Amino acid sequence: MTTSFDQLGVPRKLVGALAQRGITEPFPIQAATIAEAMAGRDLCGRAPTGSGKTLAFSLPLAARVGRAEPRRPRGLVLLPTRELAAQVAAELTPLAQAAGRRVATFYGGTSLGRDQQRLRRGVDLAIACPGRLADLVGRGDADLSDVEVVVLDEADRMADMGFLPEVRRLLDTTPKQRQTLLFSATLDGDVDVLIRRYQRDPVRHELAEDPAEQGEVRHYFWHAEPSERVALTRDVVAHASSAIVFTRTKHAADRVAKQLNRRGVASAAIHGNRSQNQRQRALAAFSSGEVAALVATDVAARGIHVDDVGVVVHFDPAATEKDYVHRSGRTGRAGADGLVVTLVAPDKVADVKGLQRALRLRERIGTAAPGELAASAVR
Ligand code: ADP
Ligand code: MG
Repeated sequence: MTTSFDQLGVPRKLVGALAQRGITEPFPIQAATIAEAMAGRDLCGRAPTGSGKTLAFSLPLAARVGRAEPRRPRGLVLLPTRELAAQVAAELTPLAQAAGRRVATFYGGTSLGRDQQRLRRGVDLAIACPGRLADLVGRGDADLSDVEVVVLDEADRMADMGFLPEVRRLLDTTPKQRQTLLFSATLDGDVDVLIRRYQRDPVRHELAEDPAEQGEVRHYFWHAEPSERVALTRDVVAHASSAIVFTRTKHAADRVAKQLNRRGVASAAIHGNRSQNQRQRALAAFSSGEVAALVATDVAARGIHVDDVGVVVHFDPAATEKDYVHRSGRTGRAGADGLVVTLVAPDKVADVKGLQRALRLRERIGTAAPGELAASAVR
C-alpha cells in the first residue's frame, strides 16, 4: 500500500489542487519527507533528478506559512538559476493559490522596480536567486525577519556557482527558529557546512537511484569528424521528439542552433549572453514543442527542468564526469526512457575514454548509426 498525500498531513485543499493536475500518489522522496516537513522539522534530502523534490518542499511551504506584511515574506526558496526559479514557481503557484498565498520570483536581469512594487504589495512566498534577493534586502525593499520556512533547492549547484557566501548572509538575517529544508544532489563538502550551521537536528533522507523508477537510459558514443556533427545531430533529433544539445561555448551554441535551423530542425540556443527574455522564450518554445532542439551551454542548463527530453546530445563532450551526469540527467526523468549520444571528434577520443572509465560506462566508441536509435527510441 502506498500512502496518500492525505495521510502525509497535506491539507485537503492542497490535495485537491494536486488532483486537478493529475497528481494523486506521492513519489518516494515525497512519501519520505512530507509528513516530517509538515510537522515543522528541518530536513535535508538527496534524491535523483526528476524524483519530485519540488513538490516535496512546495506542499509544506504552501501549507505552513502565514500572510505577509508588505516587504516581509514568510516563506523563501533560494535556488541557483532563473530557469529553475520559473519552474519552481510553476509548481508552487497553484498550491499557494489554493492556500490563499501570493508567490513571486526574484532574479537578476528583470526590472528592479517591479520587484520593489510587488514586495510593497506583499509577497508571502518568495522564490529567489541569491544575488537579486541580497540586492533587495540591501536596499531595504525586502526584510527577511518574518521568514518562517526557508528552502535551499539544488544547494550543491549554488555551491558550485559560488553563491554560498551570499546564501549565508541571507540566512543570517532570517529568524533562528525558522524551519530549513535543504535539497541537494550531494550532502557532503560545502553543503554539509550549510547543514551543520543552519539546520537543527535535521531528518536526513537519501534516496538512491531506483532503477525501476528511473526509466532506462542508453548511452551511445560515436566517432564524428567535427564537420559531420551538425548533420548527425539533425539525424539524432529526427529519432526523438525533443533534444537538448550541449556545446562547450556560447558561441558554438548560437552557431549550432543556426545550422540546425537551416537543416530543418527548429532549434533555439540558451546561454548566459542571451537576455532573460530570450532565455525564457527559448525555454517556453521548447516546452511547448514548437522548438525541437535546445542548444545549451553547461551553465545555462543547470537546474533546467523540461519533461520528456527524448535525447541528450553531447555535441562537444562533457568536460568532467559531473557535467556528463548532469547533462545526461535531462533525459530518462520521472520514469521515462532516455537516450544519450556523445559525438567524439578524433582529438577527443582519449578524454572521452577517461570519462567512460570514471563513470564505468562500458559502451564502445563506435561508428555513428542514427538509424539504430529508432530500435531503442522512447515510445
Ligand atoms: P527534481 O527532484 O529533479 O526536483 P521535480 O520536482 O522537478 O524533480 O519533478 C519531476 C517531475 O515529476 C515534474 O514534472 C513534476 O510535476 C512531476 N511529479 C512530481 N511529483 C509527482 C507525483 N507525485 N506524481 C506525478 N508526477 C509528479
Ligand atoms: Mg529540483
